[in-house]
Amino acid sequence: MSHETGDCLFCRIRDGEVPSTKVYEDEQVIAFKDINPKAPLHVLIVPRKHIATINDITEADAGLAGHLFLVAKQVAADAGYGDIGYQVQMNCLKGGGQVIFHIHLHLLAGGRSGPLLPAG
Ligand code: AMP
Ligand code: ZN
Repeated sequence: MSHETGDCLFCRIRDGEVPSTKVYEDEQVIAFKDINPKAPLHVLIVPRKHIATINDITEADAGLAGHLFLVAKQVAADAGYGDIGYQVQMNCLKGGGQVIFHIHLHLLAGGRSGPLLPAG
């Protein structure tokens, strides 16, 4: 798995080279349905900027990082989960369950609530 932009799946989705089911986009982020949903609503909120992991977020990205949460709130509300509730999660590195090395916020709703990663 490369940490470079060149062969990054989410950069390719951003650029329209790989199809996705988009539910939201603006100048900073795109959001699309997870291909292997773990809940009735499972959307990935992805900055257009390639940032490989949480460890690579800098102070200059603080506004962008915050914006991911505002988009999660909006997408959840649009899908009818604003008052019911939802989960957001971002994984960091293999030990934290990260598979795609372009940061993304998981938005999940409508399923059994609980941790996305098994304990231990
Ligand atoms: P993570 O383990 O946090 O890196 O999450 C990666 C997520 O990307 C997983 O939930 C996958 O199901 C999802 N995923 C992988 N390929 C695609 C794709 N082509 N379109 C949408 N979601 C994908
Ligand atoms: Zn990327």
